[in-house]
Amino acid sequence: MNQTFKIQIQGRVQGVGFRPFIFNLAKSFQLKGTVSNNESGVIIFCNTSESKATQFLENICHSKPKMAIITSHTLTEVSFTNYDDFTIIPSEATAKITIPLTPDFAICTTCKTEIADTTNKRFQYPFTTCVNCGPRYAITETYPFERAHTSMENYTMCTTCVNEYENPADRRFHSQTNSCSSCGIQLELVDGKGNTISKRQEDIITKTVELLRNGKIIAIKNTSGYLLCCDAANPTAIQTLRQRKKRPSKPFAVIYPSLKAIQKDFKISFHEQQALQSTVAPIVILQNTKNTKISTRTIAPNIEQTGVMLPSTALMETLMQQMQQPIVATSGNIHGSPIIADNDTAQKQLQTVADYFLHHNLKVQFPQDDSVLKFSDETEIIIRRSRGMAPNYLGANIDADKNTIAMGAHLKSTFTFVPNKQVYVSQYFGNLDAYEVVQRYENCIQQYIELFDAKPEIILIDKHLQYQSSVLGSEFAEKYNAAIYEIQHHKAHFASVLGEHHLFHSKEKILGVIWDGTGLGDDYKIWGGEFFSYHHQKIERLTHVDYYDWLANDKMAKEPRLALFSLLNEEDRAYIKDKFSNTEWNVYTKTIRSNTLQTSSVGRLFDAVASALDITDINTFEAEAAMRLENCAQTSANLENVDLLAHIDYEKIPSKLLLKIILKAYKEDGISKAIIARSFIYTLAKSIIKIAHKNDIKIIACSGGVFQNTVLVSMLHKMAEKEEIKLKLNRKLSSNDENISFGQLMYYQHIKN
Ligand SMILES: [Zn+2]
Ligand SMILES: [Zn+2]
Repeated sequence: MNQTFKIQIQGRVQGVGFRPFIFNLAKSFQLKGTVSNNESGVIIFCNTSESKATQFLENICHSKPKMAIITSHTLTEVSFTNYDDFTIIPSEATAKITIPLTPDFAICTTCKTEIADTTNKRFQYPFTTCVNCGPRYAITETYPFERAHTSMENYTMCTTCVNEYENPADRRFHSQTNSCSSCGIQLELVDGKGNTISKRQEDIITKTVELLRNGKIIAIKNTSGYLLCCDAANPTAIQTLRQRKKRPSKPFAVIYPSLKAIQKDFKISFHEQQALQSTVAPIVILQNTKNTKISTRTIAPNIEQTGVMLPSTALMETLMQQMQQPIVATSGNIHGSPIIADNDTAQKQLQTVADYFLHHNLKVQFPQDDSVLKFSDETEIIIRRSRGMAPNYLGANIDADKNTIAMGAHLKSTFTFVPNKQVYVSQYFGNLDAYEVVQRYENCIQQYIELFDAKPEIILIDKHLQYQSSVLGSEFAEKYNAAIYEIQHHKAHFASVLGEHHLFHSKEKILGVIWDGTGLGDDYKIWGGEFFSYHHQKIERLTHVDYYDWLANDKMAKEPRLALFSLLNEEDRAYIKDKFSNTEWNVYTKTIRSNTLQTSSVGRLFDAVASALDITDINTFEAEAAMRLENCAQTSANLENVDLLAHIDYEKIPSKLLLKIILKAYKEDGISKAIIARSFIYTLAKSIIKIAHKNDIKIIACSGGVFQNTVLVSMLHKMAEKEEIKLKLNRKLSSNDENISFGQLMYYQHIKN
């Protein structure tokens, strides 16, 4: 055969067992040649005929490894090279990497079976992985994904591990994270003062389980960072964790030992089950039932839901197999700072929180929180996009010839990095008010610049220049001499959905409904209840929620009673006087008279309704009022919905009138909270449809944190279907400010006004 063909494959093809798969497939095709990773994916050379090469490529696409995603492939004839055999050759050392970073994969079922099997070499080995599972992004130092480029470089494989690694028939053939108890990662159990309790690998887990059962709080180092854990059925332990972590009431997540155990406590849908068992192994928010046996009141006070997950790593799986009952597992940090992933930092910063520490010696390069999602009927709503999801973003049409960093927003910070034709949307970092979060976010950007050897040429920031992300963006622009552009917050949200759904070339006009807490508007008012149109690469503001006073700056988001105060006229305010002290009352009454700052925020509208219905006057954690209002509305699911603004024709959503109607229904007509809460959400959903009709638009794109509300999303889907309107929401990204960085990039690439 005097022909040589080159096959180039792009997509998620590294750290997923792609080369060993190619090797075995090539053997079965009796091909001779090579396979390697190069700058833009996997590259194969082989001596064969064109028809056989085509057949080979078709087979690759059909039977690719489970975790692989192929985004493109090419087949070309190249000048003839004679090969004697088929071999996997080491990666080419190249400067420009144009492949996705592979996210972490939750432990697979085969590995789970192995660690539970007393006769298996990996029985209870807490770092069991294979080509289908294990950490990837979390331990990446540089690229391509080879053992020597990860934190695994410090562990030399023993002879049996090497044999597995070299055996084409083995599941761990070319598995870069391969290790076992005789050559791998070591655990250490330490008390709060740093004294070693045990280094005996065989009984550390048993001891940890014992401590958990005795009500102790343990900081456990997962491969993506520390988790603070305690018995989920022990309210005293949970309460102690709350006090020490300075987290009075924000919900905690719970790890269950198995799907069966979850099913005993919760009624879960097919989609929820799929998500729980996926390779992301996220926290899924489930509705509590009468059978829920964990201490729900301390896990998520005042909320009838629990965030539940299955073990994501062999370590947590081993622990849970022995524990056999649910444990609380919350990010290892002190309130407001980022998740800790380094042993010394954990020992120092968490010494007042944890009674014991379960450390190990694998270095975490990219710490990540657990991802969180929930379902509105069948629609998946991403609440936090992190471990298992970040940083890939596959499927964006990117035409960037310049290295670009979009800096995102402030409260739910992420950044989007374009070092080539790939788009990387970082994991969630958190609120940039905290210095440690800023540091983590900044360091991570710097790590990307080095990882890809790509100095930024364009920096995109929010129009709000006091955002820490904007401040840092300016610093980066100066440091790298990059061009800088400001992009309005809500237009970025809109662009994020348009980008996710490839709608920029739409011939039809699109309605953008962008509802969130706050963002600086073009008129220097605080936007948050916006209606835009998109047509021919232009975004225009159509209308908005009628402005009302923005009181007391940041305090307004923390105190729903202030939003209510602002939305009521003087006469109706008498109803809510008992929510304030006399001094407060006088101060706010005076403030509002001279106030000039206005807002259209729908987030605050939800707050005001929650306060009007006496659900929450002061938040004890972010978005508490909105969550509890949603919960309240869910309890009236079977009742009729009422459009509270049915008989009113309006250009702008009459925010104050809406609150007046709600207050009257509650205080004077004695209608139940649940019905009012549900009708309020229904009225908002209706307003979207009405405004779409008014503007003769058949495609609606929604974004912003408000669209994490399952009741709203469910109602909107039903209305849109009935009216034959296409409804688009964020899919792979969260609808909250986590999508701003991606939206900034999309806006910059596609919008011309
Ligand atoms: Zn596995
Ligand atoms: Zn080994």
